[in-house]
Amino acid sequence: MKVSALVIALLSLVVLATARKQMATRYDNFKVYKAFIRDVEQLEEFKKIHHHIHIHMLHDIGGVNRSYEVVVGPAHQKAFETTLHYLDIEFEITIEDLQALLDESAYDPDAAMDWVTYHPLDKIYDWVDEQCAAHDYLDCKVIGHSYEGRPIKSVRLSKREGNKAILIEGNIHAMEWISSATVTYILNQLINSNDAELQRLTEEYDWIVVPMVNPDGFVYTHEVERLWRKNRRPNGYSNSSGLCYGIDMNRNFDFHWSGAGWGIEDPCDHWFNGEQPNTEIEILQLQDFVSSFDEGYIRAYMAFHAYGQYILLPYGHSNTEFPPNYDQMMRIAAAFAEGALDSYGSEFTYGASGLLNYPVSGAAKDWAYGVKNIPFTCTVELRDKGTFGFFLPSNQITEVGVEVTEGLKSLVVKAAEEGIFD
Ligand SMILES: [Zn+2]
Repeated sequence: MKVSALVIALLSLVVLATARKQMATRYDNFKVYKAFIRDVEQLEEFKKIHHHIHIHMLHDIGGVNRSYEVVVGPAHQKAFETTLHYLDIEFEITIEDLQALLDESAYDPDAAMDWVTYHPLDKIYDWVDEQCAAHDYLDCKVIGHSYEGRPIKSVRLSKREGNKAILIEGNIHAMEWISSATVTYILNQLINSNDAELQRLTEEYDWIVVPMVNPDGFVYTHEVERLWRKNRRPNGYSNSSGLCYGIDMNRNFDFHWSGAGWGIEDPCDHWFNGEQPNTEIEILQLQDFVSSFDEGYIRAYMAFHAYGQYILLPYGHSNTEFPPNYDQMMRIAAAFAEGALDSYGSEFTYGASGLLNYPVSGAAKDWAYGVKNIPFTCTVELRDKGTFGFFLPSNQITEVGVEVTEGLKSLVVKAAEEGIFD
């Protein structure tokens, strides 16, 4: 009797585990639309569509003369298209079946760490731990824990006393899987590549890598909702679907932070910047970690995101005010773009984020520059330019890693020439 009770208990656990797995949202026949908004009138109407049609905006709505991507399920596609026609908004369908595209990047949870598939958090962290155990020039620290208690790990590579450092930050936005994939690719190259130039750069500079700033959101994208962007703290608001979770952590850093929401102006949307800056435990710990080093040690700060192939420089909050060494940062960003171009012809556009996109504050790069006085900071928006967007297939990870590593090599050389590390 006891044995069979145990068997039943174990079986029900298996059933529970299976049920939990099956909870991950599927996107069968969901389409991704790209809508082009040409004037303010269209913009105002476009902002309201989500009030009456169930859609998932993939971008905050920041201005006119630009395209916005929207995920729409089969039940709502006709209504959505009819509304766009009615508003005379031009659109195209960029992805016909989102689930089919996601399935192309399906991963085997038992596979070893590599850069041809995306991996869950545990796999990434196990690999980080293995590297830390194998190389005594790596100093690995848990810089803190997420809201749900997951560690936020860091790796500092230092082979020589007195070096200045470059800090690389990954996956603050949960759904941007190419970010942590690329950041770990770079880390792997720094540690294990035989490339003589890259090895020189590891001798002459320290490298600090925080591959996963948003572990809760990342796990949520793997287990529940692939399209999640924010962290997972209940943010104190609710809507008709229940409690609202999360803050867009790359809108929550305190440098010219604006209390107003942008775009959809709803605390339940994917870009909610919080009620005040510096509210999220994950970024507070990241900030404390950065501040734990001597002033002047970290000379470059690069945050990796998807997508669009941009090197976005400070400032984000303005398109009329520019950093004192903006021209210098532009030359350094140009070097990255030139280096990255050579591998596969990927073109990166560079400039102040407020200029290239639209003014939005609260990003890590602006805080790192404006508050921590780090003289070169940027957001790197990785591949692609919109073909797959946030859903870049995993068979492109290695190419992205290669081109970004080449870009980084050029960037560091140029930054040194420009006196960034002096
Ligand atoms: Zn992002």
